Formats: sequence, C-alpha cells, structure tokens
Amino acid sequence: MDYLPLFFDLRGKPVLLVGGGTIALRKARLLIKAHALVTVVAPEIGHELESMVLANGGSVHREPYSERCLDQVVLVISATDQADINQQVAEDCHQRRLPVNVVDSPALCSVIMPAIVDRSPLMIGISSGGEAPVLARMVRAQIESAIPGAYSQLATFASRCRDRVKAHFADGEARRRFWERILSGPAKEMALSGNIAGAEGYLLDQLTQPQDADSGEVYLVGAGPGDPDLLTFKALRLMQQAEVVLYDRLVSAPILDLVRRDAERIYVGKKRAEHALEQTEINQLLLDLALQGKRVLRLKGGDPFIFGRGGEEIELLAQHKVPFQVVPGITAASGCACYAGIPLTHRDFAQSVRFVTGHLKNGTCDLSWDELVGNDQTLVFYMGLASLPEICAELVAHGKDPATPAALIEQGTTPRQQVHTATLETLPGLVAEREVRAPTLLIIGGVVSLHEKLRWFGGDAAHME
Ligand code: SAH
Repeated sequence: MDYLPLFFDLRGKPVLLVGGGTIALRKARLLIKAHALVTVVAPEIGHELESMVLANGGSVHREPYSERCLDQVVLVISATDQADINQQVAEDCHQRRLPVNVVDSPALCSVIMPAIVDRSPLMIGISSGGEAPVLARMVRAQIESAIPGAYSQLATFASRCRDRVKAHFADGEARRRFWERILSGPAKEMALSGNIAGAEGYLLDQLTQPQDADSGEVYLVGAGPGDPDLLTFKALRLMQQAEVVLYDRLVSAPILDLVRRDAERIYVGKKRAEHALEQTEINQLLLDLALQGKRVLRLKGGDPFIFGRGGEEIELLAQHKVPFQVVPGITAASGCACYAGIPLTHRDFAQSVRFVTGHLKNGTCDLSWDELVGNDQTLVFYMGLASLPEICAELVAHGKDPATPAALIEQGTTPRQQVHTATLETLPGLVAEREVRAPTLLIIGGVVSLHEKLRWFGGDAAHME
C-alpha cells in the first residue's frame, strides 16, 4: 500500500489554494463542499472563483505566492500551471510538514485526492496512487451507478438511529447483527425511497418487539418495454435483491436474466385471454409470499401504473400493511415512439397525447370516440392489435380523416422491432397481410409522418422495416 486513505475533517479550517484558474475553481468547489475556509492566492483570480470563495467565508489575495501564505493553514493545494511555483509550494510545505497536494504532480504531493463518490455521510474515495487516474475515474463511474444517490438517505437514517441502537445493545456483536438485518430489510427500502421517518419507526418497532425475521416486502417494478438497457437503476437493484419474482409475458428474456440467479421465478401469464393466473390470484400470491417474509419482485412490462393493473396488485398489500414500493418504468408508448423515431408531441402536429386501451370489452366499442378525433393530438392505443379494424373504422366514422398517418409498432425496442406505417384507412389491410406478432402498439396522428425522417439509421438493421 503506497498511501493510507484518511478522511480529513476540514469544517471551519483554513486551507490555502494557490492558483486562480479553472483547476483551482474545481478544487475550491470541493473544499467548500467540505466546509473549509479557503484562501486563494494568485496574481490573477477568476470572478466565479472569487465570488464563490468570498460567499463561503474565505478570502482572495491577488498577489504572487509567498511562503508566509502558509501560516495558520492546515492543508495546501497548489493548482497553478507553473511548474516552478508548484515546486516551491511543495518544498515549503514539506519543510513545515504541512500536507500538500499539487494537482497532477503526484511526486510533489504528500497527500493525493481520490476520485470521490459522495453519498454523504457515506463517502467513497478511489485512488490509483496517481498511477492511473483515468482508471480510477472509470471505477468511480461504475460505483456511481451501483450505489444509488439515495444511499445518502440510508446513511442519514443510520446515523440518526445510531445512539438509540447503541444504548439498546450492550453487546457489540448483537448490535452489528441488528444493523445488518435493518440495513438489508424493509427499513432500508423505506430510507432509500426518502421515507426516513417510516424507516425509523420500523427500526424502533424492531428494537422494542424483536422478531426472528423481517416481514416480507413487495417491489412492483416497471421493467420497460423490452430493451434491458431501458431499466432504471432502481429496478435493477431490486431485481438483484428479490428472493422470488412473479413475471408475465411482457417481460423480455434478457431482462429476466438480470434477476438474481437464485431467485425463485413464477410465471403468472397474462397473454390476451389466456391468463395463467387470474388477477385476484396474483394479488393473493403476492400477499402470501410477503407474509412468509419473502422479498417479492413483481416485474411488469413497461410502467406498472399504465395499463398494468399495478393499482390492484398493491391494494391488498396496503390493506394488510405489507411494505411495498412501486418503481416506474418506461412505458411502451415512450419506448416504441423513441425507437421508431415518432415524437409523441410536436409543435406542428400534436399538442397532447392520449394513451388509450384498445382492449374493447366483449368486442364492443365503448370508448369516447368523439373525444379522440381532434386533429391536434396523438393517440396511442395499447392492446389494440385484435381490435385494429374496429379502432380505425370508429375513428373514421366519428370524423377523423381516413388519410391520418398511423403506425403499428411490433415488439418495440427489441431487436425484432418492426414499424408498419400506413393511414387509418389502409393500416388494417396492410397488417392483415403481414405476420405481425404481439406486443404491438398503435400510434395515430400527424407525428407518424415524421417516422421516415427521424427513424434511426445508426445501428442494427433489425430496428428498421
Ligand atoms: N404497463 C405496460 C402496458 C401493459 S398493456 C406499459 O406501460 O407499457 C400491454 C400492451 O402494452 C400491449 O398489448 C402492447 O400494446 C403494449 N406493449 C408493451 N410492450 C410493448 C412493446 N415492446 N412493443 C409494442 N407494444 C408494447
């Protein structure tokens, strides 16, 4: 080990920053974040740097560096582009045994700055000892995405409860076990989603009425329209911590592959008219598994609250006070529209967009068709393949121009995506001639005419017709 990582408490302490340019500005930002009192010394000092330092209790001196600048300070950072000055600063500091960091010159430093992932109070520093700074920054990027920003809230929650837990457990080992359980159970999820009061309440309950195991919880997660790259960080994190997953046909195989390997997988179906489980059975199963103490992932295509019956699935959980959370996903309309180059709104064509179900009850057309025929809106029909001829005919019957552009997007965002474009009048015939596979999304409106211009020519040919 070439360096010992330590964390420096700079709150209210004087720090000298030599240099007045953009690198000095970056360092000043960091020092101010750590609540240091920054003194800047340089013949020229940028205005942004000056006002930031002054606004945070520091001072600026437009003069050359001299050794007496080192009086009183606890840390020195040299960020000038002049090698001789950097050298001088470093030598003076070494003489005085003052910690010094010279930007981009590890040989002159007694302390080096790591790349930082800031989840205060949780703080992660990554360093290559100055040997491979780009690599350190790449590692930081990986950690940034693996540790959600909300870990700050989790750490805040832990720090708030620390004394109470300490007072409760005389035995350090028991205390450690308690924290491990709390920081991986429902309180963790509550804190991560911002409900610190709820997390504290849960922790208190666990202190006063200890239970052998945590209660279970349910994550209702939107998995997006198919492309695994469209998952959210939160979805991925919960997918990797769930013990059992309930999924249906809309969840693509590559997405399912990202679920924790040893998780139990339960297929709950939902192909049109061939439900593997009835909705009420799914609701009950979620509840039963959670009551057994399991972390249950309910993985849904798109967004759980858009034609996803997500509301129904959590109602029973709410009644039984089972902790749950809902994670939004990219809905099919957004995913398919973007991947097909069809903006859902556009100043020239559509001032609003409507998501409509095309799953018409008993084949009857009980939609408010009159509201759907306005020319300044885009219509997006979910579950509209079987009723495509009726939908197009009703819109025309209620006054929509038969020449209105319409697109059917098949298996959107997947490598098998196909975009079938036509008009309200011609689309049903065209689709009847082609072998079209569900899921499909129907987009109707002037914006569809932009598809030719805006569709993506960049990559995989499978994304084009
Ligand atoms: N909750 C989902 C919608 C569920 S309803 C969401 O927010 O996307 C199921 C309908 O969604 C399908 O009938 C189809 O119309 C649409 N859909 C879902 N994924 C799709 C995809 N990859 N391509 C095209 N349509 C899709």
